[in-house]
Amino acid sequence: MDEKPRDNRNGCAATYSILKAYSPNDQTIADFKKSEATIIGRFLKKTSGLLSAQSAIAINENAKSWHFIFAPSQSQALQMFKDTLSAERDGLQEVINHTKSTATAGDVVTLALDTENTSELSSICIEVNKLIKDQALRNEHAVYVSPVVTKLWPKTGGILNHELGHLLDYALKSEGISDHTRKTKDTIETCLKSRHAEASSYSVEDWADFAGQIANDKDAEPFECLFLRDWVGDGEFNKRSFSLENSDPTDKHSGDMYRALAKFSMMNGDIPKSCRSALQQKGEQAKFKDCRATSAAVSK
Ligand SMILES: [Zn+2]
Repeated sequence: MDEKPRDNRNGCAATYSILKAYSPNDQTIADFKKSEATIIGRFLKKTSGLLSAQSAIAINENAKSWHFIFAPSQSQALQMFKDTLSAERDGLQEVINHTKSTATAGDVVTLALDTENTSELSSICIEVNKLIKDQALRNEHAVYVSPVVTKLWPKTGGILNHELGHLLDYALKSEGISDHTRKTKDTIETCLKSRHAEASSYSVEDWADFAGQIANDKDAEPFECLFLRDWVGDGEFNKRSFSLENSDPTDKHSGDMYRALAKFSMMNGDIPKSCRSALQQKGEQAKFKDCRATSAAVSK
């Protein structure tokens, strides 16, 4: 009974340590902001081949309001956490008061996470979790750019293109889209689905991966292997990840290894032989094929 809260706390603390290590400063964000229009413009240009001329007009109109929402800087994050902690827990008021003059967000949250009662910290854990995840925000027409992506950019440009892929998907579902464009998208989605051996609920995320990769520069660093990194340092993550199947049934993304190999296959025509035989040893078989070919067939 005691196990679960401790796991939660460790999960939250580990997530927080990532946030702490990557929180951008104001200058980094200001520099990144200058590239916002270029990144969005390049994405639209490169994915325009998926659209009929009529649909392209509708999408470009929709995309006029696309924008990035940047991660909070260290000082903004500190204020957010202080506010949450004040609201959540009187006992922490002392910590907050104590750290007011010299605190980093890290001091406040680390002290908070070190305390025994974790249930009252659930709000801050939810907040921390949200802050480290890049996300396309449908209603806002925006992409939330996480601290890791901000700090490691342009290496992480592929992640932004994935999120812009979601905005494109949303726009395709809401704007005046031609039958031709719809048919092209359906064909690609059917193709993407056929690459999964397991029953797939990954359509939306696979589409974002697909559109994102079309938008990536040829020599762009594939970001997928970043996900294969052992961020938490517990050694368990990599063991779980080396499978085509996603071990987390609640995750709507294809598994990390699947995504890395799908990207490799799209860039190079196939996956490395060594990966294919390693998978075979695990009883898994990759079924990657190039879904760009199917969309080109529709476009003819
Ligand atoms: Zn996604």
